[in-house]
Order: sequence, then C-alpha cells, then structure tokens
Amino acid sequence: MIIQLASNMSTEAKGELQAQMKELGYKTNEVQTQLGHYLVAIGKQSFDIRQIGSLAGVKDVHRVSDAFKLVSRKWKVQPTRIDLGEGGQIGEGQFTVMAGPCSIESEEQIIRILDHLKAEGVQIMRGGVYKPRSSPYSFRGLGIDGLKLWAKLAREKGIKIITEVMQVSQIDAMHEYVDIFQIGARNTQNFNLLDALGKVDKPVLLKRGISGTIEELLQSAEYIFSGGNEKIMLCERGIRSYEGAYRNCMDINAIALLKTKSHLPVIADPSHGIGIRSHVEPVALAAVMAGADGVIFEMHPQPEEAFSDAQQSLSFRESTKLIKRMRAAFALKEEF
Ligand code: PEP
Ligand code: MN
Repeated sequence: MIIQLASNMSTEAKGELQAQMKELGYKTNEVQTQLGHYLVAIGKQSFDIRQIGSLAGVKDVHRVSDAFKLVSRKWKVQPTRIDLGEGGQIGEGQFTVMAGPCSIESEEQIIRILDHLKAEGVQIMRGGVYKPRSSPYSFRGLGIDGLKLWAKLAREKGIKIITEVMQVSQIDAMHEYVDIFQIGARNTQNFNLLDALGKVDKPVLLKRGISGTIEELLQSAEYIFSGGNEKIMLCERGIRSYEGAYRNCMDINAIALLKTKSHLPVIADPSHGIGIRSHVEPVALAAVMAGADGVIFEMHPQPEEAFSDAQQSLSFRESTKLIKRMRAAFALKEEF
C-alpha cells in the first residue's frame, strides 16, 4: 500500500498514522524523494482504506499488490517525465535519442561524435569510461580522467552525458561530470549500488539484467525510488537466450509490458539487444513502435576500429539514417 503524505504533514500526525498502520498489522517504510513523501506499508491484512484516507496529512492511499510499488502504474497513472534541465525532458510524448561510442577512447573521438550529435539535434551522448568486460585483458575504459575531458568538451557544446557507474565508490568522483548515471546489465541487482543511487539527485538509467526478469528489473528500480530518487529510466537491452545467432534476445515484449506496468520512461538499447550492426536499425524501429520513450545506441567515427563493441557500432552515415527513421516512426506511432 502506498500512502502519499502532504509535504507539510506534522511529525505528530505522521507518528499517529504509523501507529495506526502498525496496529492494523502493517510494517511501514517512510520514503522521501526529490518529488514526494510517501509511506509504503507492507502487510497482508485487508481493511477499509478510508480509515486512514481522512487522517490529517494524508494526501492519497493506493493499494498496490505488486512486489514493486512506487514504480508501479497502479498508483501513478500519469507517466513520469524526467527533467534533464535546460529544457531537456525524457518521457511520454517525447522521443529521446542517446548515442555515442561503447567506450570513450580519445579527445578526437569525443569531438567528432559531439559534432555529429549536435548536427543531428541529439542532446545526450553515451559512452563508457568504466567498462565491464568479460575478459580482464580487454580495454576497460579511460576512467575518471576520460570522464573529466569528455564532460568539458560536451558542456562546451551543450550536450549531456550518460555513462556507466560500476561501483558505489565511484559515485562521488563522477557526480559533478555526469548528467545521467547508467547502471549496467551486470549490476542490475547490485543492491548496494541501487541504494547509493537512490541518494543521488541525478537521473538513473537502469538496464535489465542479462538474465533478469521484468519483475526483477522493476524491483531494482524500486530500490532506487525508495532510496529517494524518482528520476529513473528502465532500459531493455536484450536478455540471454539459447539462440547463438545474435548477441542477446531483444525483448520487445518487455517494452510494451513495462509501459503498462510502470509509470517510468522506457528506453531501448538495440545495440546490445542484437549486437549486429546491420540489424540495429530494424530492432530500434520495432522498439519505438512497441512504445519506447527513447533509444540508446552505439556509434563510432570508425566502427571497425572501436576499442569495444565494434561489431554493433554504427557509422556516422548509419547513425544519421537511424535517427531520422526513429523520429519518423515515433511521430507515426503518436498518431495512432
Ligand atoms: C554498454 O552500454 O556499453 C554496456 C556495457 O551495456 P550493458 O550493461 O547493457 O551490457
Ligand atoms: Mn557496449
């Protein structure tokens, strides 16, 4: 059950409400975010919710039987929009493109991609400076110095940055330079990291785990929300399957489902979803038609030379074509 509290609720009234809930057999968790104040009550009893709905300081009461609650659309029917600042918005009615290399590699690479994105009217550049690699001998990113250089160049051009944070200890040093924190598929259930990002006032893009279910993804998002951060995007990036013909199985179903199960924006990552350059476009377009609020994809000035994920990175020409077609698909979908 979610009890929305008024921002001016007195400590006394809150104490009274908590006592009543305890008496009714519920365990309460107080959640204070940038945008709201809630009491999440967990328990199996059933009672007339009007009993507490009329108490001082109670704005609204919703029954949510799902394992995930604050991220559920059962209580928040209106889709969430995330404010990126400077006019940037992510969520319902807007189509967001995030593009860039798998890994940040050099000053020249950053500048060339920033210029490309600027020309295409893309506001957000992706890129990894801490790379989770299957092999310890693969390129593992330029680290904080790469991030600082990238942030300086991106800010000069008015472009925002999304990058992966791999562990709690990196958050503080990265915070100043990052506009959106990405949680990678290998960290979707790193609950310490989720808790820590709940304390950060910056948007978070949460990828679905490599073999994660939709419910697990939503429960991971619940960690961030209940930790205090409502600015969350859910990202479908493909799941591991028995099929070996492509890298991952892009779960288009999940996009459609997530949009009805949750009020949070849903972003599709067709690059990791299929992992094959020539097939990124159709998968991206399918994701748009399934309801994605945005697409994050990998591109590189010289895709074959990329330090990581070369096989799925698009060239400038391919990127331009994809952006144009995704925007056209989104406009068409909005008309339906
Ligand atoms: C990435 O975005 O480059 C990445 C490593 O993604 P994922 O966590 O989805 O594998
Ligand atoms: Mn990658």
